[in-house]
Amino acid sequence: MGLAVDEWIEEIGGGLNFKRPKFLRMIKAHKIRLNPRPEQAAYFMRAAGVARFAWNWALNRYKELKAAGQEVDWNEIKKEFRAKIDAEFPFVREVTKCAAEEAINDLRKAIHVYYETKKRNPKAKVKFPDYRKRSKKIGGFGLANDKFSVDGHNARIPKLGDVNMAERLRFDGRIMSGRVKERAGRWYLTVTVECESQGMAGLSGSVGIDFGLSRFATLSTGEVYETQANLRKSAGKLKALQRGLARKKRGSNNRRKWKLKVARLHERISNQRSDFLHKFTTAVCSAFAVICVEDLNLSGLCQTRLAKSFHDAGIGEAVNQLEYKTSSFGSLLQKVDRFFASSRLCHVCGARNDQLKLSDREWVCACGAHHDRDLNASLNLEMEGIRLLAGSGYIGVTPVDGKALAQVSA
Ligand SMILES: [Zn+2]
Repeated sequence: MGLAVDEWIEEIGGGLNFKRPKFLRMIKAHKIRLNPRPEQAAYFMRAAGVARFAWNWALNRYKELKAAGQEVDWNEIKKEFRAKIDAEFPFVREVTKCAAEEAINDLRKAIHVYYETKKRNPKAKVKFPDYRKRSKKIGGFGLANDKFSVDGHNARIPKLGDVNMAERLRFDGRIMSGRVKERAGRWYLTVTVECESQGMAGLSGSVGIDFGLSRFATLSTGEVYETQANLRKSAGKLKALQRGLARKKRGSNNRRKWKLKVARLHERISNQRSDFLHKFTTAVCSAFAVICVEDLNLSGLCQTRLAKSFHDAGIGEAVNQLEYKTSSFGSLLQKVDRFFASSRLCHVCGARNDQLKLSDREWVCACGAHHDRDLNASLNLEMEGIRLLAGSGYIGVTPVDGKALAQVSA
């Protein structure tokens, strides 16, 4: 296939001696499905109720203080709450004290984030934290790191004991926090862990990735990742369910049941997509030292219909994952400007084909090279990414230097 990418990299940089970024501390989160017994699920419901109650109580207190023109001291608010437990809210004692405490911490954070966002961008569409209602969302409750532990398939929760987890905690390291949450009638525990960055040894070579809507990803190695068939199937099912829901009478028992069905399927699709994306990004990040992708401006797409398809395909999410996983694996993500004509250029001779239509999956260049559209694009992304890396000083030789060297040696 003409000039191999490896040769080309050799020519401009003499190997990949780029400086790897150093990350000492990584926070990772793992969401684990819980299998509570009925009385344990009842405890979760009560704890989620306490969390909503504490949140609402503290929000109310915050508003009172603000209205009276008083300074808000969150430690004071917490103290006031605690002082009332025995006399006024004895039910708070039935569950872990984290449920109330963490809810008040969450509220403080939410208010802080609100004002910070407004400060940075006064036009930002953010809503001030609101009261929490059972009818809207069951929610969940937080657990401080010293108040719970995991051991194999068990999560130990205060005043409850061991709850079965569908899988083991995936990460090794210090547990930072936990959160039990309801979604579509099921309970999940999300554990955040502080991990050491692995700084994987033995990573080598580079790869370009072309993302698309019809074919999820094409790697410059020729490897292809199709959008999963089961995801497509579920999406079709979802449409049918939603149509069914629209026909159900408001307020009816039947409608309530359908709603749960729709929510379950939503959850399932989101899990399937997340699983697919994680497998893909981990495979790529653990195999290559440099990963080159197009810098998709997804916010610019927001108003268009394409945006939804991109979102559904999970392309933006994949790039986000590549971004943080590369730092954890010690590989590097290089973005290429989205105006770079990755599809139109022939990666062999560099000629530009402006006649190329979106529907052309294959084309033949004037130089005789026969191209698969996506594969050619991924090869161009890889070469351009490496060129940019060279220019940014990661590989001792800039493109200009490279050219000069090539001329000297020619
Ligand atoms: Zn050509």
